[in-house]
Amino acid sequence: MGRIYNFSAGPAMLPVEVLQEAADEMLDYRGTGMSVMEMSHRSKAYEAIIQEAEKDLRELMNIPNNYKVLFLQGGASLQFAMIPMNLMKNKVADHIITGQWAKKAYQEAKIYGQANAIASSADKTFSYIPDCSDLPISENADYVYICENNTIYGTKFKKLPNTKGKILVSDVSSCFLSEPVDVTKYGVIYGGVQKNIGPAGVVIVIIREDLITEETLPGTPTMMKYKIHADENSLYNTPPAYGIYICGKVFQWIKKLGGLEAMKAHNEKKAAILYDFLDQSKMFRGTVVKEDRSLMNVPFVTGEEELDSKFVKEAKAAGFENLKGHRSVGGMRASIYNAMPIEGVEKLVEFMKKFEAENVRE
Ligand SMILES: *Cc1c(COP(=O)(O)O)cnc(C)c1O
Repeated sequence: MGRIYNFSAGPAMLPVEVLQEAADEMLDYRGTGMSVMEMSHRSKAYEAIIQEAEKDLRELMNIPNNYKVLFLQGGASLQFAMIPMNLMKNKVADHIITGQWAKKAYQEAKIYGQANAIASSADKTFSYIPDCSDLPISENADYVYICENNTIYGTKFKKLPNTKGKILVSDVSSCFLSEPVDVTKYGVIYGGVQKNIGPAGVVIVIIREDLITEETLPGTPTMMKYKIHADENSLYNTPPAYGIYICGKVFQWIKKLGGLEAMKAHNEKKAAILYDFLDQSKMFRGTVVKEDRSLMNVPFVTGEEELDSKFVKEAKAAGFENLKGHRSVGGMRASIYNAMPIEGVEKLVEFMKKFEAENVRE
């Protein structure tokens, strides 16, 4: 099999079993004589696909009945606008700035109202999560916004901020289904699926029902109203049907592996292999403070740009793809989402050891 270890931050690896099953069903989905791509989204066969996907996601995340699950389009980035358009009743939102995606959401929110940056880790290149136990939450804030796992910088909120009773909105694009979550702590949890769940373009929005109202900012397009999609069970218009079908297969795959507790154990084990190596290496080091390290995205450097480039180049030749760090951080980044097998990380560490031995400076 010609598959390589793909450490891309997204779109990222999908489970081989899922891809294989999709391939088997490509020409004739379960006796319908057509591919899911060619199927009416109003057909019985497709209704079963989207309903099963929602049911499985609800089961995996233990989503309470007073939350809606929406399968939408436009990626995570469209939510940067949809959230303020639908939730800014007082036109005030408090944002915690922990990286580029958090910043983009903040800048977008400013178009629609008063967005306040109430905490930030920009002072140290977003290498940590600020203390969020006693923030200056605005009296009339409609919500507090976080990016829970920072894909580019490799940090993760291990503890949710104290929002002092305000609604919490969280972008979980790069940690979706990587570990159990308590949905009741959030007003909105959402994420683009291309990091951990499926094909780019689909965004899943889990939103508390009482936050879905007719009242949106003036000029909100119909397609950007949560209520429209909630009332029609994500079938207001043609949904990203094939993408949702693949997401459904990934939900099944996670269920089969034992759900989110099992996923967490698997991810902790994988991440520890890499972090343990980084912590004792004389050449490589992680860039994030230990207590805020992400299980999904692991940035690291050698401290020398030339050596970093040499490493990325040689790693690629050895079958470890997409290890180059984001252009804003430099160095390397290994994204090790759910579908990255443990052997992928073990082999990467073996390769890093070999590289270190070959390039050691006396
Ligand atoms: C990738 C990513 C996004 C952007 O997703 P798109 O689907 O490309 O819009 C937003 N937030 C986070 C945390 C991401 O990792």
